[in-house]
Amino acid sequence: MGKTKHTGPVKLSKKPDPSLWVSKVPFGLGKVKPHHIRDTMKVVWENKDNLPYATRILTQGVCDGCALGVSGLQDQTLKGPHVCTTRLNVLRLNTMSAIKEDVLHAEIDELRKMSSTELRKLGRIPYPIMREPGEKSFRRISWDEALHKISEKMKALDPKQYAFYTTSRGITNEVYYTLGKVARYLGTNNIDNASRICHSPSKTALSRSVGVGASTCNYKDWIGTDVLVFWGSVAANNQPVSTKYMYAAKRKGTKIIVINPYHEPSMDNYWVPSIPESALFGTKIADDVYQVNIGGDIAFMHGVMKHWFEMEAEESGSAINHDFVKEHVNGFHELKEKVTAYSWEQLEKSSGLSKARMQELAKLLAKSNSAVFVWSMGLTQHRFGTDNVSQIANLALLRGFIGREHCGLMPIRGHSGVQGSGEMGADPFVLPGGGMDEKNRKRVEKIWGFDIPKWQGDIVGVSLENAVLPEDHERKLKLYYMSGGNFLETMPNPDFVKECLENVNIRVHQDIILNTSTLVDAKEAVIVLPAMTRYEQPGGGTSTSTERMVYFSPEIKGPRIEEARPEWEIYVDLAKRIKPEEKHLIDFKDPFEIREEIAKAAPNYDGIQHLKDRGDVFQWGGAWLCEDGICPTPDGKGNLIAMDIPELRKPEGHFYVTTRRGKQFNSMIYDEKDPFNDADRYDVLMNESDAKELGIKEGQPVVVYNQHGSFNGNAKFVSLKSGNVEVHWPEGNVLIPKGVYEHLAGIPEYNTAVIIEKAETYFAHKDTKYVEKRIEELEMETS
Ligand code: SF4
Repeated sequence: MGKTKHTGPVKLSKKPDPSLWVSKVPFGLGKVKPHHIRDTMKVVWENKDNLPYATRILTQGVCDGCALGVSGLQDQTLKGPHVCTTRLNVLRLNTMSAIKEDVLHAEIDELRKMSSTELRKLGRIPYPIMREPGEKSFRRISWDEALHKISEKMKALDPKQYAFYTTSRGITNEVYYTLGKVARYLGTNNIDNASRICHSPSKTALSRSVGVGASTCNYKDWIGTDVLVFWGSVAANNQPVSTKYMYAAKRKGTKIIVINPYHEPSMDNYWVPSIPESALFGTKIADDVYQVNIGGDIAFMHGVMKHWFEMEAEESGSAINHDFVKEHVNGFHELKEKVTAYSWEQLEKSSGLSKARMQELAKLLAKSNSAVFVWSMGLTQHRFGTDNVSQIANLALLRGFIGREHCGLMPIRGHSGVQGSGEMGADPFVLPGGGMDEKNRKRVEKIWGFDIPKWQGDIVGVSLENAVLPEDHERKLKLYYMSGGNFLETMPNPDFVKECLENVNIRVHQDIILNTSTLVDAKEAVIVLPAMTRYEQPGGGTSTSTERMVYFSPEIKGPRIEEARPEWEIYVDLAKRIKPEEKHLIDFKDPFEIREEIAKAAPNYDGIQHLKDRGDVFQWGGAWLCEDGICPTPDGKGNLIAMDIPELRKPEGHFYVTTRRGKQFNSMIYDEKDPFNDADRYDVLMNESDAKELGIKEGQPVVVYNQHGSFNGNAKFVSLKSGNVEVHWPEGNVLIPKGVYEHLAGIPEYNTAVIIEKAETYFAHKDTKYVEKRIEELEMETS
């Protein structure tokens, strides 16, 4: 792939630049903004029982927060130190002691009164526990008893009737790799990971567009690029250290463009706590914000391209990089034909943006020599998420914004482990080093020494749904083995998810903490296994950042949880019990041995075997994938994908709803109020003129509803595209339909049409609303 190596972090200029200041009033006094110092003091207080260990984690470990990738306090973009409140907030997960015995064994109904936030604060899971039908509380069991029960059940089942799942927070490549291998050793391809509900379309789309499912560039490319576009991404909130990179980019004259239905305040102005000038006077981030309709991105990008073709008709070479397209790109004519067939009216209606605004962005990109496109869930969590992302690749390929400095495509990740999960093969479509195609399968079989099942494994959502299949169905899910995750709070339609979880015979939750899903009944048993954090695992572990940096995180000296075990070791132990006759094929002595094997099985990861000390890191694929325009596709060319704009007809009187994140780390909530806009978790963000039409006043209780569910909240007026509303994730998942997946990447659809009504009128006529579905109807849909 790329031959150029990343050149390491650069220094930030210390000279202030008042032209970027938000205001001359220090510390943003009087403005709605986060209070970083107060938040940091709160974290110090929370960790007061374990401060030396907390400090060692911060200074020696690789951040287990988002996937920006900070090792100790250093990263590969800017000379450090770097730390953010997201990392500080998740720190407590690593330093807290075990749950008190009387609480852990309290009546299940008492535990069920707690939210996931309260359960998280109880402490770590100390030892294996189990609850069978009729038992009112968890009881302690030994590791041997737990693994015996799970393995006996798995031996009795067809491998299509069990599934594995793994989350991404803190999970290391070694754990993903071992799990991917163990699943196949046991004969199942039902294995999936958390990226299925966040960036799976990015991987799928980038693979088909440019031949590789990862960021093609680095964060450093932000600094000095002509245009940095954030599309459906609120990086300032979800990857806070990225605001330092944005500040550095602004200092180099980069224009920052934000595209989102909601004009997110955190992408407007930010007070970067570790940059004195910014901490004092703030930094203006976005140069322009395009408020697009939810789901209107494909039309918007068609509009940009349509204008490029118009510019080309006037003057060849004024918008398209013809040399690049001719030499490095397929599908030009098909794309042009598709885009130009749409009228401006169609594009304006779908995108919600005027022709003039679409032309404006088209012109800006056309006159730029470089651009980096960054995106996130605003593009991926749609039933057409793969097309959304390929459309971004279309823009980059037409302009030649790929494979060189200050250019590229970047799906920015929100979980520290998520990039590695697919690359290690913890995915039903993927094996280490490639897909499930015969060539790669045979190659991996040779390394592993056993046959890999050929049938297509299920994605997480389908595995869950399989729990309610008839008893004798070949794929009826009878055992679900989950490492982390909380489906009740991440998947659409929580009532249906609960029904699925209850219908599994045995559910295994391998985790560090309890959450609401752990407390749901199962038909035969719920078994909870205590896992180690990445900092506790002997021999350390590695994780891969968004920009493909593979970081080594060492084992860190400190207190340990009674019976917690390294996750890879638990999988190996289980596999050996189920198929003892071939156990030598699955045995690993330590993580060094796993890394040795990863280097062979996933050739991009050659180099991982040498990582062993704090600070060790390498980047797979070099600084830029598709360097010099040569893509790792069969013919070396990028593929332009022609696509239709999605059908988004809303019934009369309906709005489109999407979800947003507040003060939280993925599904873990850290505050009921979002410090950037003062929104409460149950506020319904809407446009003031839309509200006025409905006679709704600011702060007034409203009900947002559709045939899937109802959401009670209060109206909050914000700068949001008219016709669209936003609610917080995961609380708003009650409105999202079950069983709607993007057809290529399997991500659930997280947007839908809703009605909004004042609570007083809604409740007066509640019986006439269509929210209460008949049970028979639900049964029909799942059979
Ligand atoms: S931005 Fe992400 S990687 Fe960096 S310190 Fe914060 S959570 Fe960790």
